[in-house]
Amino acid sequence: MALGEFDLIRRYFAAPSVRRADTRLSIGDDCALLAAREDHELAITVDTLVSGVHFLPDVDPEALGHKALAVNLSDLAAMGADPAWITLALTLPQVDEAWLAAFARGMFALAQRYGVELVGGDTTRGPLSLTIQAMGWVPNGQALRRSGARAGDVIYVSGPLGAAGLGLKIRLGQTTLADAEAIRCLERPEPRVELGRCLRGLASACIDISDGLAADLGHILDQSGVGAELDVERLPLTDGVRRYIATTGDWRLPLVAGDDYELCFTVPPAHRDELEQRLAKAGLAAFPIGQIHAAPGLRLRKNNQPLDFTRQGYEHFPQT
Ligand code: ADP
Ligand code: MG
Repeated sequence: MALGEFDLIRRYFAAPSVRRADTRLSIGDDCALLAAREDHELAITVDTLVSGVHFLPDVDPEALGHKALAVNLSDLAAMGADPAWITLALTLPQVDEAWLAAFARGMFALAQRYGVELVGGDTTRGPLSLTIQAMGWVPNGQALRRSGARAGDVIYVSGPLGAAGLGLKIRLGQTTLADAEAIRCLERPEPRVELGRCLRGLASACIDISDGLAADLGHILDQSGVGAELDVERLPLTDGVRRYIATTGDWRLPLVAGDDYELCFTVPPAHRDELEQRLAKAGLAAFPIGQIHAAPGLRLRKNNQPLDFTRQGYEHFPQT
């Protein structure tokens, strides 16, 4: 007999992989009860992954469990928040226990690494879709917003761009290149939680790259009322993406492909030394790729020559 809704929750989601001291009541009641803090702000985010839109229906469920949580932890990282709790809304076409076990394994493995506790959710029948809401703490006034970039600030990214986009092209059979690293970037992105924490009090603006560098840096520029110049030679790339660009001439990939979940942030020149010190101490990397300017718009340069580029990124409801 197929597993019922409540047995399913009990078997796969209610046994806590993490127990936090500030969780007063977890799964099993109408609401979870979480202890509040006076000296911190609660950062809350939610992301939905829909089968056929955000992931291929035949994707490895363990990788999917990882990614569904990773994209949410990435939003917390982009605010400089410490992850604390998640809730999970699952819509399933049928109960497939092997699938559920693998999904839960992937999700809880990542949750455990960051001390994140699953404290509630919802389980429904319908087309496969996963929604995770994540909550985290950031000291009062220290959250990294999109709106603080100023002329003269240096723009950084936390790691290579375009690799997840290449992974998607490989999965869709749009390129004959083979690249295990690209597949890993697509299916198992690493949220930059430690880096986000490290940037508190240093970065003037921060965002995680889910829709492509041009689109996401564009949000920082719009909300900060500034422009930017990027040096495309300085974009960090994996060997696979370099090879892809060399064979196809598609140099835009690292600017427009989404799903990398690296952080893009800006740092005032006066904070650069402190940034280098903190990064070195934490064993983290970040790559300067350009500068904020007062004149609005995103401008690209390569070998000191301007490059023609119109901003674009993935939109679910494009204007026609
Ligand atoms: P209610 O009907 O009061 O909203 P439910 O019957 O939907 O409660 O859920 C019962 C309990 O199980 C609640 O505590 C809820 O948060 C939890 N829950 C339901 N689905 C999930 C899930 N997929 N993951 C984690 N907890 C869940
Ligand atoms: Mg209820």
